[in-house]
Amino acid sequence: MSVSVVIHGAAGRMGQTLCSLAKADPELTLAGVVDRSGSEERLAVWGCPMGSDLGEVLKQAPGAIVVDFSSPEASVGVARTVAANGAGAVIGTTGLTDEQQAALRGAAATARLFWAPNMSVGVNVLLKVLPELVAKLGPAYDLEITEIHHNKKADAPSGTAIKLGQCIADARGWKLEEKGNFARHGIIGPRPKEEIGVMTVRGGDVVGDHTVYFFGPGERIEVTHRAHSRETFAQGALRAAKWLSTQQPGKLYSMSDIF
Ligand code: NAD
Repeated sequence: MSVSVVIHGAAGRMGQTLCSLAKADPELTLAGVVDRSGSEERLAVWGCPMGSDLGEVLKQAPGAIVVDFSSPEASVGVARTVAANGAGAVIGTTGLTDEQQAALRGAAATARLFWAPNMSVGVNVLLKVLPELVAKLGPAYDLEITEIHHNKKADAPSGTAIKLGQCIADARGWKLEEKGNFARHGIIGPRPKEEIGVMTVRGGDVVGDHTVYFFGPGERIEVTHRAHSRETFAQGALRAAKWLSTQQPGKLYSMSDIF
């Protein structure tokens, strides 16, 4: 049986990739596309119910899972809409504030909701193995993260860099909010031992690079993930949509629940 999906943010970079992959997947039905008004031309090519009002499009796609890659405010709206009408949603938007993340968790009490700042298999496996690396190398190693993205990206650092930072901070028994350094400038002096630098680079059409550095005495390890195309994120989100269609509301699911 195929799973119906409605793509929210369908005119965007991720949205268009999601639409073409969903259309080509025999296990999925592209049941609707939603974006801001003014995007009609880009939505019409998919030949399915379309519009700028998710609630209205969902009336024509009952039981569909919404796949949302839009903006933080819009994603909170998606969570509230699906909570009100019993649908489910996979959200990939990054840059959500603590309040917006809390709103997603609140909506997840009554709606099937999934949120992950990085849907690629590679990054999610990396999140599983990093704690072991941190533990095995020990406290002598300085931990740093760099991320590079295209020049249109709205938020910094990337949601993935934050997630990687939280992962290695947890492994040290630290909190990223307390130990993270997100910008260095001027006479900064020696690097504090209990610090994780999370640095941002922007330019060109880079889909997404992340490196975690372990700087030790006389050596360093660099673990790098490079996304070659947006398809890796879109495939992960569509896999999550299929998985979510068989789940119950009650918690805000993420990639670690699938693996
Ligand atoms: P984009 O700007 O190309 O596309 C966003 C789309 O959402 C646009 O078409 C915009 O019109 C639409 N949108 C915004 N607000 C809306 C609203 N209120 N109602 C309807 N449509 C609305 O951006 P993108 O590169 O596709 O990225 C989108 C988001 O996904 C970003 O937050 C990005 O960081 C994130 N992202 C996540 C992953 C992941 O694996 N989780 C991967 C890549 C990108």
